[in-house]
Amino acid sequence: MKLLMWLVLAVLVILAIRKKARPMTQDSMRSRNAETASDASSFDMPATATTPAETMVCCAHCQIYLPASEAVIRGQQTYCSSAHADLH
Ligand SMILES: [Zn+2]
Repeated sequence: MKLLMWLVLAVLVILAIRKKARPMTQDSMRSRNAETASDASSFDMPATATTPAETMVCCAHCQIYLPASEAVIRGQQTYCSSAHADLH
């Protein structure tokens, strides 16, 4: 009887450890995924926030879009480079 009790105890302990261990790893994985997701979204947020701030302009010559800070402005038109600006 003692051996049986020990066996039952051992099985219960193993089951308890397994039950504890599995949700722990899954939860940690989920929380890690949630963290990376929240990190990605937090990284996305400034990117999307800065995108409207950084106005995209179109080159009047080749129609390529580029940030306004990198654009060459000649009069009313914006260009991707001084070379394209000089063509007009
Ligand atoms: Zn251009």
